[in-house]
Amino acid sequence: MQPRTGYVVVVVGAGIAGLSAAHAILADDHGAGADAPRVTVLEAADRVGGVLHGVEVGGQVVDVGAESMLYGNDDARWLVSSLGLDDRITHPATTSASVWSRGRLVPLPKGTLMGVPRSPRGAGDVLTEDEAADLREASTVQHPPVHLPDLPVGPALAERVGRAVVDRLVEPLLGGVYAGRVDDLSMRSTMPRLWTAVAAGEPVLDAVAAIVPEPREPDPDAPPRHVFFTIEGGTNVVPRVLHDRLLADGADVRTGWPVERIEPLGDRYRVVGPHGAIEADAVVVALPAPQAAGVLAAFVPAAAHALVGVELASMAVVTMAFDRTEIGALPGSGFLVPAVERRDIKAATFSSGKWPWVDALSPDTVWLRTSLGRAGEAEVLDLPDEQILDLALADLAAALGRELPTPVDTHVQRWVGGLPQYGVGHADRVGTVRAAVGRLPGLAVAGATYDGVGIAATIGSARAAARIVRDHLAGAAAGTLTEGDAG
Ligand SMILES: Cc1cc2nc3c(=O)[nH]c(=O)nc-3n(C[C@H](O)[C@H](O)[C@H](O)COP(=O)(O)OP(=O)(O)OC[C@H]3O[C@@H](n4cnc5c(N)ncnc54)[C@H](O)[C@@H]3O)c2cc1C
Repeated sequence: MQPRTGYVVVVVGAGIAGLSAAHAILADDHGAGADAPRVTVLEAADRVGGVLHGVEVGGQVVDVGAESMLYGNDDARWLVSSLGLDDRITHPATTSASVWSRGRLVPLPKGTLMGVPRSPRGAGDVLTEDEAADLREASTVQHPPVHLPDLPVGPALAERVGRAVVDRLVEPLLGGVYAGRVDDLSMRSTMPRLWTAVAAGEPVLDAVAAIVPEPREPDPDAPPRHVFFTIEGGTNVVPRVLHDRLLADGADVRTGWPVERIEPLGDRYRVVGPHGAIEADAVVVALPAPQAAGVLAAFVPAAAHALVGVELASMAVVTMAFDRTEIGALPGSGFLVPAVERRDIKAATFSSGKWPWVDALSPDTVWLRTSLGRAGEAEVLDLPDEQILDLALADLAAALGRELPTPVDTHVQRWVGGLPQYGVGHADRVGTVRAAVGRLPGLAVAGATYDGVGIAATIGSARAAARIVRDHLAGAAAGTLTEGDAG
């Protein structure tokens, strides 16, 4: 690229990844230097935010997609701080959740790593006596180091802690994050720290005890140990504020602008869609795997081929508003449903009990939500809204052991291909994508496919993509090749 100024960057996709990448590029948050480029964000839908989405239910806007972020994560905190949202951070009022297991709501044990306990006693009351004995016995067996690049979570852990821990605890917790099947998910990618221990032949419970702090009784004098947070108004506030900030910083954000392909244009790029073509010095592809594969197919076939191998889970989120007096007390923040229970819902969140900001929305109304569908079980999404709602209400009533009043309002949100599945070998697929894309100076990928599916990890991937872009432009402005350019 010839040294010049006035560079143009196109970001494809305006989910949290694309918006964060655009923001990080304009903010130059790692300080590559050189002038800020002109940034255009292209989004196929008629709104920004992707899975971070709010809808009016019962007269108030509540989240119908993602609803919480990891508090200890630097990338999520950077974004919130840089948007001036620190004073709107709020944490769950309760972290006590349950597992709907064998017809009872059983307290979800604390101090586990995605359901794997620190000690045989750590599985709480979820296991039967025989299953608890299996866990004790399995945890005494020595396993040799694993000389494989990856293993599926379910079988690997079943050997080490017993199948019941996998089915009753790990599956609902990991399933909650990935909407996935524990027997297909990659241990290396979904439980990396435990994978390191398993690969080294270390006992699993010892490894968990080293990673997870011992649960302690709440101490009113100690500072609270927050794990999750959101913003008052919900996570849907973040993309809206980001959008406004991007406009204020001079970015051009176009909705209803689906990108069809990216083409080479000398040492630059052409981003093409039905509304025309935009020339760019650098491009961030912040799309779900199938769409990213589509736009890269002709230009970077190796990346597209690897991306096509990423399976996606689809799910529906059913949000309900109830009269507060009629529905009465609800226990804790909600409950998870193990797949072995063969229920329609896989989780329920009692939003008003969990989030102080939801509780404060109304003295008369409470909100809760349930999710249905997981990887390989998308049929539920084909049902009409009323049937999905009926399934959700029937399971809720069965779990709570009582009839429920008629909701004052409901909303069914379908998330088709909402969550990428980190299947066995995912890390290698991501490595292939990044290697192929990395050979093209100024091209970068970001989103839930790469460094973790959570919002925080997605923001991290966006910041990494922004760094690639800014380093490339800084190198170009100085008339030098950057390290990435040489790669
Ligand atoms: C129901 C649900 C609940 C979740 N809950 C949580 C949670 O509580 N906490 C958490 O941390 N994570 C949660 N997640 C995960 C997390 O929200 C997502 O992984 C993350 O938001 C993904 O962001 P993204 O920008 O990568 O993708 P997306 O949000 O999918 O954004 C991609 C964008 O690209 C656009 N697009 C697609 N094709 C094109 C094209 N050809 N041209 C232009 N634009 C295009 C799409 O319209 C979309 O806006 C949840 C996910 C789901 C589905």
